[in-house]
Order: sequence, then structure tokens, then C-alpha cells
Amino acid sequence: MPSVPTTSYDPKNPLSPLAVRSAAVVEPVDPLALGPIKKVYLIWLGGASCEGCTVSVTGATHPKVEQLLAGAIPGLPRVELIHGLFSTESGAEWVENLLMAERGELDAPYILTWEGSVLRESTAGAGSWSGLGQDLRTGRQITTSEWLDRLAPGAAAVIAVGTCAAWGGIPAAVGNPSGAYGLTEHLGDSFRSAAGVPVVNIPGCAPLGDNYTETVAALLLHLNGLAPLPDLDSLSRPAWLFTDTVHSTCSRIQYYEEGVFSTDPGDEACLVELGCWGPVVQCNIAERGAIDGHGGCMSMGGICIGCTMPGFPDRFSPIFDRPVFDATSGSSRASGGFLRRIRSARRRPTPHRSGRLTGAAASAPRFYRATPPVPATG
Ligand code: SF4
Ligand code: SF4
Repeated sequence: MPSVPTTSYDPKNPLSPLAVRSAAVVEPVDPLALGPIKKVYLIWLGGASCEGCTVSVTGATHPKVEQLLAGAIPGLPRVELIHGLFSTESGAEWVENLLMAERGELDAPYILTWEGSVLRESTAGAGSWSGLGQDLRTGRQITTSEWLDRLAPGAAAVIAVGTCAAWGGIPAAVGNPSGAYGLTEHLGDSFRSAAGVPVVNIPGCAPLGDNYTETVAALLLHLNGLAPLPDLDSLSRPAWLFTDTVHSTCSRIQYYEEGVFSTDPGDEACLVELGCWGPVVQCNIAERGAIDGHGGCMSMGGICIGCTMPGFPDRFSPIFDRPVFDATSGSSRASGGFLRRIRSARRRPTPHRSGRLTGAAASAPRFYRATPPVPATG
């Protein structure tokens, strides 16, 4: 009986899959690599996904994906990407990368990034919800969630990018037939990577590309021994990115305080009465912008629909209904008029600005005047 191959790669067969095979590539001399790790593989896999996270990350600017791939940031190892869309290999050759990672044959550590929700294959009957590659022993398709089980324990870090990966997201909405769910639910709360790191969640639908690349950079600094483990909050998100509410940095917050609310999405006032969840949702897009400081939901006239949060979209639906907390806009409307009048008064020219003060009083900074300014007579 012929022997059954356990791997698709055969060093004696020039037609067998080759994968990345970086060991055969002459490594460039990297003067910026400061730690012991000179190179790291970034394996990007996905379950139920629209690929929006991939698109978002390609637009990151702080740092750029290109800077990570080039090893152009001091202290960070060069990143080699194994991604279903961007790798130069395809088919069995691409899958060979995953097999090499599982067997510990890659010549550098790897980080696993997961995009999209995990699919509950036990509900798929005789088929599968999501397959990737083939088991050479049986000929059956390997499911994406099986790859997760095979690769997560050996990864230096595991990142759930996007709300689908973190909590299940849109594919897990009520009525979905696939039983979709999030990465932490699949791996368990006690999961730790080979380097002792819990699953890192970077939610958003789609997430900010900068939030992803900045977190990868922070993790790489840590893995290289140059920084502590990035601060993660109780939902395992990078704490410095997800502590504040959208509302706290929204460019429309002045209108909220003054009780001025939009009745049409094209209005410039606060959008809370059109359904904005900004006051209770943690997200930094109002502060950071969508790409390179530009764009973002409220600045483009869109309400916050809570896309970074656990339970999205069901807990925030129907999205154009007024949020349950929106009774606050009524009190804001009542007290906001007073605030608006004070602000308006503060914007009127002072006697100082109108040039009516004379002598030292005219040039003294207002906060340091010992006595109230005396208007000039005559
Ligand atoms: S538009 Fe939304 S986030 Fe902005 S101030 Fe109004 S409620 Fe807050
Ligand atoms: S502001 Fe709201 S809808 Fe917009 S990205 Fe942030 S959480 Fe999502």
C-alpha cells in the first residue's frame, strides 16, 4: 500500500507546493532592528467576513502597512505577510505556509490575525460553512475554524480584527443560520498565545486601520523585549484606544451641550435625535478620523450605530430609532439655552478688544489684572 503523504511539500519533487520559503531568501541587513526578533510572519485568516477589515488596514497611516513590511520602524522586526489576497502564492502553495507554521517550520515567530466571525461548523451538516485547503490524508476540506485551533496555540499573539472577529458582529445577528460567534468565545477566556498574550480585540465595522497597525506595532515592541505588554481593558481591547466615548471628542458636542439637534442628516447640529449612540459607545474615530485624520462617522453626517461594541448590531437596532438614553437630549435642550447664551455673550468683543481701554490696563493680560478694567472716558 503506498504511503499516505502527511504534507504537501516534498523537497525531492520540484512541482510540490513551495509556500513562502523565506529561509531560502537572503535576508536584507536591517540597521533598524534593535531587538532579538528580526522578522515576524503575520498570518491573516478569516471566517465569515466581508474583507472590510483588510481594506481598512490597507489605508492605515500611523504606521503604514508598508512601513511594517519594510521593517522601517526602529525596534520593530520586519513583517512578512501571509494573506489570502496579498500573498504571491495561491492554492496549495499558500496553504503550505499554514502547514509550515503548524509544524513549527517557519524560520521566525508568527502572529495570527483573524478577520470575520468564527462559524459553528457543527451546524453545517455534511458540508461546511467555511473551508480553506485540503487534508491530504482524507481529501476533505479543512474548515477555517479548524485552522484557528491548529495555529492559535503556536502564535506569538492572536489578534481579532473587527467586530465580527471580536464578538460575532453582523454574521452573528439574530436569525443567522451559521451560529457565528467571536474568537474569544471559540478559544476561551483563559486562552494565552505562545508568548502569554490573551486574544487582542480591535473592534469596529470596519475598524480603524490605524488602530490595527498601531496595536501590531505595540505588540511587536513587546515581543522584541523593548516595551511592556500593551495595556488591555476588560474586553481585551487596547485600553488607550477604547476608553473614551465617541461623544467626548465629537466635533458636534457643542451642539449637544447647547441643546441644538439635527432633524435631518444633512444638518450640522448634534445627531442624537436621529439615532446617534455616541454618548455611550467607546470608539476613537471622532478623534482620529477614518484615514490619516480625515473622515469619520459624525464628521461626514453619519450617526454612531455602535459598531465597535459587543452585541452590535442587534443591541443597536433599528439603527435610526432614537437611542434608549435619549431622554438626556430633552434636559440638554432645557439647560442648553442658558449655556448657549453665555457662550454667545463670551464671543462679543470686550471693551479691551474694541480699543476702549487705555494705558497699562489695555495691554495687561485679562487674567492678571489686579483691578477690573476701567473704560476710557470721553
Ligand atoms: S452627534 Fe452623536 S457623538 Fe456627536 S455630540 Fe451628538 S450625540 Fe454626541
Ligand atoms: S462612531 Fe460609532 S458607528 Fe462610527 S466607527 Fe465608531 S462605533 Fe462605529
